[in-house]
Amino acid sequence: MYYGIGGSAGYGVGRAVVISDELPVYEKIKPSDAAAEAERFQSAVDVFTEKTMQMADSMRLSAGQKNAEILEGHVVMISDPFIQDEIKEKIMQGMCAEQAVDEVCAQFIEMFNMTEDELTMQRATDIRDIRTRLLRILTGTQEKDIREVPAGTVIVAKDLTPSMTAGIVKENVAGIITETGGVTSHSAILARALEIPGVFSVEGIISKVKDGMEIALDGSEGTVILEPDEAQAQEYRKKRDEFLEARAGLEKYRGKETRTADGISKVLYGNIGKPDDAAKVIENDGEGIGLFRTEFLFMNSKELPTEEEQFEAYKKTAELMKDREVIIRTLDIGGDKDIPYLGLEKEDNPFLGYRAIRFCLNREDIYKTQLRAILRASAFGKVSIMVPLVTCVKEVRDVKALVEKIKAELDIEGVSYDKNIKVGIMVETPAASEIADLLAKEADFFSIGTNDLTQYTMAVDRGNSKVAYLYSVFNPAVLRSLKRIIGAAKQENIMVGMCGEAAADQLLTPVLISFGLEEFSVSAGSVLATRAAICKWSKADADAVTQKVMECATQEEVIEILKANKR
Ligand code: PEP
Ligand code: MG
Repeated sequence: MYYGIGGSAGYGVGRAVVISDELPVYEKIKPSDAAAEAERFQSAVDVFTEKTMQMADSMRLSAGQKNAEILEGHVVMISDPFIQDEIKEKIMQGMCAEQAVDEVCAQFIEMFNMTEDELTMQRATDIRDIRTRLLRILTGTQEKDIREVPAGTVIVAKDLTPSMTAGIVKENVAGIITETGGVTSHSAILARALEIPGVFSVEGIISKVKDGMEIALDGSEGTVILEPDEAQAQEYRKKRDEFLEARAGLEKYRGKETRTADGISKVLYGNIGKPDDAAKVIENDGEGIGLFRTEFLFMNSKELPTEEEQFEAYKKTAELMKDREVIIRTLDIGGDKDIPYLGLEKEDNPFLGYRAIRFCLNREDIYKTQLRAILRASAFGKVSIMVPLVTCVKEVRDVKALVEKIKAELDIEGVSYDKNIKVGIMVETPAASEIADLLAKEADFFSIGTNDLTQYTMAVDRGNSKVAYLYSVFNPAVLRSLKRIIGAAKQENIMVGMCGEAAADQLLTPVLISFGLEEFSVSAGSVLATRAAICKWSKADADAVTQKVMECATQEEVIEILKANKR
């Protein structure tokens, strides 16, 4: 099994066609007439422009305007006077057109590749694409045409450039696997637009695959099996058929408002762990980000991320989401999330110890850096702050006081931020649930963290399989807690959402509607399914089922009733 990034959901089984991006070979001959050589380059650009615009037209039909614009962008890039002058200057100095194109493009590729920024690195892919195609035109080399691949093809390439995929016949392509590129690479964007399962950044895959080899891939998990046995291939085909059937059913909810059957409006957000995941939320029609787990920034680093690094990450997310809300949860470490360089002492009960907001309020230096970064990013979108693991009112007051202090500092420095930024809390401890009425007077919003709330309410380690039978949101103790929390928020008229896994549990949906939950924040892949579940229930129907549920004494009885009433 090979592992990469699952960038386009779905399952595929098929035979490999390996697409090489080798540059055509040319001879470095000094042309006798430099002016004529410059004209030969210009004619190649004209041919390139014409062909690319034709490709953009077919791309518009197959994969939409956004993907067509990527190709149109290639025409803009090659028409750039700066690039053209550089190439022509080299030709005038005695280089042949091929070498001049090759060298100038190589300079730009190197320059773009030097950044850490994925978007800028994609410019390198664009220039690489332009270079290969210009050289093919200049040398008269035939382009390999993906349009011609037979049905059931799994395309394997270093990176799939936009021009390679223009006019792709999606019915013939069972999957796409590349060696480079992440979720926001052109290949991934295109694969999603065409609804072709895709796994990206699979290291060294090209050297392992031969044309015609059978491949099975899972574009959600990001896994690839070369030469699967019959049972594996069969399993993947079955999963593919089930996936396609489910997707077809959900598609009708794309672009729809999230409302109950009787028209009560709900908010449907996505959970993310890093800025790039925001693209997945948008692709899946999420209406905002209900939980940005910022731990990744701290865990993927060998030292504390600086204010600037954090600011860039939060700003990038805010900008990606435009005017949609981004709820950034402040550092939630400790428990199961250790960060070695912080040198935290080993504790007997890490889940009950020095973690999350307790750590942050004690290490104001670290917390202040993060809050400053979030506040600065709030000038670039609709950003909110969320505090994890709150157990008492004082913690909320302390955070709010710190936020006010930082605002005053930013004012003095003349740095902009959203003056009305909201400070909400995660309700995920029994203490917070007990005093939800008091906390609702202090916080701007609630988001219920059912992952932890279940663990702490049931006194059951969420990672311990021996006691997993107790770890259930359907337990009457947890359900009563949810009811109280949502009721307290509504009493104070603050927004109440849920960002724990239970928000996407379709069995629970009627109960959450009945309690009055307003915002559901789920993983990107669950957005449409959650909208579909919400749309199926009217408040009255949800109330009727929930009344029975709340009379149950055991989680088994609760589940039985909900299963019997599932829609
Ligand atoms: C939760 O506890 O429900 C939650 C969303 O936070 P995490 O899973 O990151 O602890
Ligand atoms: Mg939690």
